[in-house]
Amino acid sequence: MGKINILIVEDEQRLAEILKKQLEESGFNADIASDGYLGKQLAEKNKYNLIILDISLPLINGYDLCTEIRRTNNKIPIIMLTAFSAPENKLAGFDAGADDYVVKPFDFRELLARINVFLRRSETDMTVAEKLKIADLEMDLKSKRVTRANKKIDLTAKESFLLETFLKNRDKLLTREFITEKVWGIDFDPSTNIIDVYVNYLRKKIDKDFEPKLIHTKFGFGFYCSDKEL
Ligand code: CA
Repeated sequence: MGKINILIVEDEQRLAEILKKQLEESGFNADIASDGYLGKQLAEKNKYNLIILDISLPLINGYDLCTEIRRTNNKIPIIMLTAFSAPENKLAGFDAGADDYVVKPFDFRELLARINVFLRRSETDMTVAEKLKIADLEMDLKSKRVTRANKKIDLTAKESFLLETFLKNRDKLLTREFITEKVWGIDFDPSTNIIDVYVNYLRKKIDKDFEPKLIHTKFGFGFYCSDKEL
């Protein structure tokens, strides 16, 4: 695999330069766009693996640029970088299609950790087959269409993501912490019983009327997905 290319869209020149230097020292290529319009041009012209995007920018602001990029590219991870920490700013960022949000001033190691999470995620997404199958259950990763014994099964977004996590890790024991991080993100409190609730929703839809059962509980440990008991 070639070098990872990261685009920094940031008008504070000093911060942009420091970021570029730190990213390069961490083994990435980094380009700087000093306003939203340049950011848009570079994002369209070059193939980036990830974008770090400031919100207050000349010409096109970060929210609008993010929306613009999402129109043609759903996959590229976008981390917003901003001085605004209010929840409504955060929500506006997620609404515009950002994947994560880092508040200035920030520790570079924190940003780097987040970058690595996204890069690992897109790497596995790229290498995985387009359809996941176990017994007579099939999931099309592009359309998210799920069938069991050729019957279409309707899942909510979270149920679908949960099933995808199970299928990508079939025959492996998964802890609640692992599932929480994959499906709900690292900031979610794993002590709630939400995973059990969702696993039950999923079981009702994909296992209740079918054999063999695919989602199994390992008491005191977590869950696993398999067409046999482990
Ligand atoms: Ca700015």
